[in-house]
Amino acid sequence: MAIQRTFSIIKPDATERNLTGAVNAVIEKAGLRIVAQKRIHMTRQQAETFYAVHKERPFFGELVDFMISAPVVVQVLEGENAIAKYRDVMGATNPANAAEGTIRKLFAKSVGENSVHGSDAPETAAIEIAQFFAGNEIVG
Ligand code: ADP
Ligand code: MG
Repeated sequence: MAIQRTFSIIKPDATERNLTGAVNAVIEKAGLRIVAQKRIHMTRQQAETFYAVHKERPFFGELVDFMISAPVVVQVLEGENAIAKYRDVMGATNPANAAEGTIRKLFAKSVGENSVHGSDAPETAAIEIAQFFAGNEIVG
């Protein structure tokens, strides 16, 4: 399996509770390397662009409001099979369904306020990374 990069967000519910380091510890323990990271406060336009795929969903407005409610930490993670591996480390979207030891089981508050984002495929990972990082900000 090849080395991949995936895009991660530590969401407002986690940054507000001072859980950035705790989330990063789970990421690193799983063998993923944080090769880029910055704390930002997303604009409404950035959040709407990022989640455009969900714009017809009933929770879209709530999701955008949540993502701009406090700072987030955007990251690029690198490792073997990083995209699928990080989805496993994150756990199910709804923390009620998330497996023991996953970030969402450990920390998420609800299906909406679920602590982390991770890309779902190589194509989306490339688009999401490019939305937030210049090439020279990623140091593998
Ligand atoms: P994932 O983040 O696991 O890839 P989705 O891509 O389906 O999940 O949804 C994107 C984000 O939208 C979720 O992480 C969550 O923050 C929010 N969301 C998804 N489903 C719901 C829901 N039923 N109610 C409120 N927010 C939701
Ligand atoms: Mg998704």
